[in-house]
Amino acid sequence: MSTIEHNLQDVRARIAAVAHNCARSPEEVTLLAVSKTKPVTALEEAIAAGQYAFGENYVQEGVDKIHYFASKADNAPLEWHFIGPLQSNKSRLVAENFAWCHTVDRLRIAQRLSDQRPADMPALNVLIQVNISDEQSKSGITLAELPALVASISELPNLHLRGLMAIPAPENDYQRQLAVFEQMHQAFLTLKASYPQMDTLSMGMTDDMAAAISAGSTLVRIGTAIFGSRT
Ligand SMILES: *Cc1c(COP(=O)(O)O)cnc(C)c1O
Repeated sequence: MSTIEHNLQDVRARIAAVAHNCARSPEEVTLLAVSKTKPVTALEEAIAAGQYAFGENYVQEGVDKIHYFASKADNAPLEWHFIGPLQSNKSRLVAENFAWCHTVDRLRIAQRLSDQRPADMPALNVLIQVNISDEQSKSGITLAELPALVASISELPNLHLRGLMAIPAPENDYQRQLAVFEQMHQAFLTLKASYPQMDTLSMGMTDDMAAAISAGSTLVRIGTAIFGSRT
């Protein structure tokens, strides 16, 4: 068994254990393998172990991998998520290549993604990034700004607004991790009451996935625990 296959089994087991502990079904939590900076051989090992959803942070690196796997004869049904900061001048590459974008935080970018989404592709799945705790970060909007942005984005024809995403400031204490994720979950439930099609709450990474799942995450973005540390 490859190291990556072993790691994937371990991560899946951890997701299942945490889900059981808080009376959730493991199927409610999607595992996104974050493969930024990793070579295609690493992704191939993950695919061999049944992992098909990948997250990439850098537009060009992600597009190169998407093209590489699309041109392979045995191409598996891969699903590509863009999870990095998005600049306007890169929005077309995201719109033309990815299935999901987790980091929408302003209307202007959302409009570009909708305009640039090719007509022969299904609507681009998008999440609004919320800056829930990281004062340093310039990415993400505040909870107060959320209702207006949701209302505008949900009108855009070629986007499918699926929910929210957050990257909380690093925090070692489990209870404090949980408190931040619970704020996100509450915001998600409030929105869902008006927009029932919202089904995705993207939160949880290698070091805080347990708290995220306990607080209601439906998608965890895991890099290090699957592929090892990045250099
Ligand atoms: C790198 C990254 C991850 C994965 O982080 P790990 O700690 O390696 O699991 C998840 N989400 C985002 C947005 C990232 O940039």
